Amino acid sequence: MLLHLLTQVDRGAPVLFVDTQKLFGETLRYREALIGRFGLTGVRTILPYADDLATADPQGSLWLRDTDACCHIRKVLPLERALEGFDAWITGRKRFQSSGRADLDVFEVAEGRIKLNPLANWSVAQLKEYAEQHDLPPHPMVAQGYPSIGCMPCTDKVAPGEDPRAGRWRGAEKIECGIHLPTHGREIDGSGI
Ligand code: SF4
Repeated sequence: MLLHLLTQVDRGAPVLFVDTQKLFGETLRYREALIGRFGLTGVRTILPYADDLATADPQGSLWLRDTDACCHIRKVLPLERALEGFDAWITGRKRFQSSGRADLDVFEVAEGRIKLNPLANWSVAQLKEYAEQHDLPPHPMVAQGYPSIGCMPCTDKVAPGEDPRAGRWRGAEKIECGIHLPTHGREIDGSGI
């Protein structure tokens, strides 16, 4: 959705794709399909730093012990470094996604940058209508019961009536990865996309 809106303005605008190296294969293939479909030329794949992985997660199993620390080295730090030099960025967050996003503003200022959330007040029905109007393909796992899709170890199916993000870190208090939190994911109490 957001990427389609972006193509109406600039197909070469920078798009930061955070690849935690724990994503579903379907997500990586979906990314390539969208790049081809929309003709995006500015997509940058952001990876965790090798030094951070060697120090904190040499076995790749940190998510089992400490999801906040895992999100920090695989999402928060890589994006923080990739955003250096930018004055503003755009996210695809929506208010309906979870109770934690219910009061989301369209314009925010965070970490000295403007953060735009142009879809903040869009409803599920509006998103569906826009997708149908423009024949936009959903992530292939949505039809399998995954309305919100993150990393493979931390994404579960969602039952009817649950928040769309209820399958993220199922069973834990954590509801955000930390990228969009005021302390930028440095929480140690499990609050931590
Ligand atoms: S969502 Fe899970 S696997 Fe992905 S970075 Fe966070 S803790 Fe690690």
